[in-house]
Amino acid sequence: MSDMTLLDLLDRLPSEIALLPALQGEPPYRALQVFQWVHQHRVEDFDRMTNLPKGLRDALARSARVSRLDPYQVIRSRDGSEKLLFAGPDGRTFPAVLMPSEDRVTLCVSSQVGCRMGCRFCLTGQGGFVRHLSAREILGQVHAAMRRLPEGSRVTNVVFMGMGEPLDNLPEVLRAVRVMTHREGLRVAPRRTTLSTVGLVERIPEVVASATGVSIALSLCATTDEVRNEVVPAARRYGNLQAVTEALAGLTLPHGHVYTIEYTLIAGVGDSLDDARRLSRMLARFPHKVNLIPFNPWPGSPFRRPDDGAVEAFRQFLEDRHHPVTVRRSRGQDIGAACGMLELASPAEATP
Ligand code: SF4
Repeated sequence: MSDMTLLDLLDRLPSEIALLPALQGEPPYRALQVFQWVHQHRVEDFDRMTNLPKGLRDALARSARVSRLDPYQVIRSRDGSEKLLFAGPDGRTFPAVLMPSEDRVTLCVSSQVGCRMGCRFCLTGQGGFVRHLSAREILGQVHAAMRRLPEGSRVTNVVFMGMGEPLDNLPEVLRAVRVMTHREGLRVAPRRTTLSTVGLVERIPEVVASATGVSIALSLCATTDEVRNEVVPAARRYGNLQAVTEALAGLTLPHGHVYTIEYTLIAGVGDSLDDARRLSRMLARFPHKVNLIPFNPWPGSPFRRPDDGAVEAFRQFLEDRHHPVTVRRSRGQDIGAACGMLELASPAEATP
């Protein structure tokens, strides 16, 4: 039997593993043991799953496999973050960014190769859409990052802010989320798993209804539809600011959750105090915290970063109105890994 015809267990939940013919007649806890080997110990070889009977290991090897994704290149930043570059079977490449810090280890994952939202401030958006990533390719990024960490350390936070709009690939993203947040597996806390959307209004309720308990971030860069439609062309298709606000205000979040507003400050676009005032009015409608992200310019970008005074004035305006607000220090700027700087590479650049 060729390897590709075997069932890949990397993105299967324990209840699905239990349905394997190899596990029929076995006690129910066996599926959980297999799941633990795959995700807690990151073992791909059934023969090394030593608490399983030999006959079961052989039967699993005949009918299933566990795929593994390794980066074909790792680029280290001066600030300790790393950009991991992966290639799918079609040669298409996608990045993840690993950002260890004192109290957490954050991994920014990609959900698509390219992106069809076309945001003008984002380098990914300029390259167009190539394809969705599978749940396995998303989980493969998390496993690869976990393997790079020292013994006893693990990825604590996963943010879907790499390449792609996660809500445009929701079935695969939710499958990956269910596996990575499973308490017998990688154990990433649901609340520390964040789906970041540019505002796909119809999909936001699906995320809440999924009962995965993930956090939702909304990416904004303007406070009028006129400006937003210019900078985020997809906004015309997926919902204006009023529709987005109403969608967020109308949902009941899990206890203790708030929306994170990732507000990209671009000089002359949405960084005025009038913008801060409009944003403040919008925020009054739903529970939130705000991350201000000064724009990271890339070669040829049509936009500039605001000066520090403008960033501080915007922050102070929101803070004076009691909005929880921080300014994000983007990491990995020297390796093109900061927010909005992930570039779509051609397949030829990958040398897996
Ligand atoms: S900002 Fe996000 S949604 Fe917009 S083009 Fe870039 S990857 Fe896509």
